[in-house]
Amino acid sequence: MSTQLYQKTASELSSLLKEKKISAVEATQSFIDRTNEVEDKVSAYLHRSPEHALSLANASDKRRVKGQTLGPLDGIPISIKDILCEANQPLTAASKILENYISPYTSTAIQKLLDQGGVSWGRLNLDEFAMGSSTENSAFKTTRNPWDLQCIPGGSSGGSAACVAAGQAPLSLGSDTGGSIRQPAALCGVVGMKPTYGLVSRYGLAAFASSLDQIGPFARTIEDIALLLQVIVGQDPLDSTSVDVTIPDYRESLKDSKSDWILGVPKEFFSDGIDAEVRHAVEKAIDFYNQQGAIIKEVSLPHTDLAIPVYYIIATAEASSNLARYDGIRYTKRVKETKDSIELYSRTRGEYFGSEVKRRILLGAYVLSSGYYDAYYLKAQKVRNLIRKDFNEAFEKVDALITPTTPEVAFKAGDKSIDPLSMYLSDIYTISTNLAGLPAISIPCGFNSENLPIGLQLIGKPFQESTIMKIAQQFEKHHDFTALADL
Ligand code: GLN
Repeated sequence: MSTQLYQKTASELSSLLKEKKISAVEATQSFIDRTNEVEDKVSAYLHRSPEHALSLANASDKRRVKGQTLGPLDGIPISIKDILCEANQPLTAASKILENYISPYTSTAIQKLLDQGGVSWGRLNLDEFAMGSSTENSAFKTTRNPWDLQCIPGGSSGGSAACVAAGQAPLSLGSDTGGSIRQPAALCGVVGMKPTYGLVSRYGLAAFASSLDQIGPFARTIEDIALLLQVIVGQDPLDSTSVDVTIPDYRESLKDSKSDWILGVPKEFFSDGIDAEVRHAVEKAIDFYNQQGAIIKEVSLPHTDLAIPVYYIIATAEASSNLARYDGIRYTKRVKETKDSIELYSRTRGEYFGSEVKRRILLGAYVLSSGYYDAYYLKAQKVRNLIRKDFNEAFEKVDALITPTTPEVAFKAGDKSIDPLSMYLSDIYTISTNLAGLPAISIPCGFNSENLPIGLQLIGKPFQESTIMKIAQQFEKHHDFTALADL
């Protein structure tokens, strides 16, 4: 059978469009058809708007005919985690509290995509307000892992990872507060990057934990990640935490063939909790780099074991404040027949927030409350500084860190949903980079004996996205992982 357009990467589609061998409408239609074919199995999408997509694609084709193409993404379909606003499109954050909500404005990241001709066409499932590691906390549906439909795709950006692994979109956007891009990318066998905190504007991202949240790309190749990242980065007056840094040409910088990197292996990431097959695949990848001329150094990040407790204090504290806005007055949902506004707030929130979200709001309110603030929140901030310091010290000796992305491969749906603590441990290798604000990428590095993907994580110095992409691409050149899951 000849290769279908949905099997192509974004860069391949971009070249075909440029050579006028295909149209954006054809490319978009191919992903719509593929989605119609497999969506019943995967359940990646919360909302699809094929007509909207085809009209954007049609506009792209018209621009191309006139020689007015906007950039390499012009005419390429991209799906979006349903937590980023796009004007006149629904946004639920997978929560009942935002059911039927229509965004009045567009997030900066999506605006930048649209300005470059990107064809946004579907909104992807996630854990409610991005809280979770399996997408089972969505109020609407459970997304499945395309490599094994019994398994979860990871989370919280489970829809974003699954749709790329299943060929339902060549690119997608997600958000990562503690691992929500990298962990599902690892479990679905695709590439996912969390940029440095401040590189991508968070304006229009429904906030979970504002000091940790970052928007980032999913794709099947490093080149595609570079393509998408290029478009969404940059300082934004609408997000005061976005940073003014010189942005390199990411795709161009991939052409540099340096291979004598100094890679640090944090010994704390290879302790008891890691699955044997995951450890083996990651160790093989480390050997590969060594054979390619890299120097491998063991390093220590001594406060690693405190990352999860610190995260669940800081992230919940910020979430309890950010989610206060869903009060039954603003936005969509409101219970009826209440005697006063207090009852209106509490019954609306009680009825429409899911249990994980409520758990976190309660935890966050508790750690911020008078009498506990110093003991929990303030202490967590101090430990966060120690975690940052660990990374700074490690980065004095190495160019990047190389670690597993997750301790295990994808697990079966239902296996961890009753035990929040075991779910929280899924992010043990990803959370500390959010606390330190660093960039990190997850790339596929093999499969286990049950054909489930394994992810390798590369963590870089602040704003060194191009370094970790270069290192990642060196692995990719010798290990092709662009195949779609068999569905
Ligand atoms: N799984 C982590 C959590 O539940 C991280 C989520 C995320 O990065 N948004 O909070």
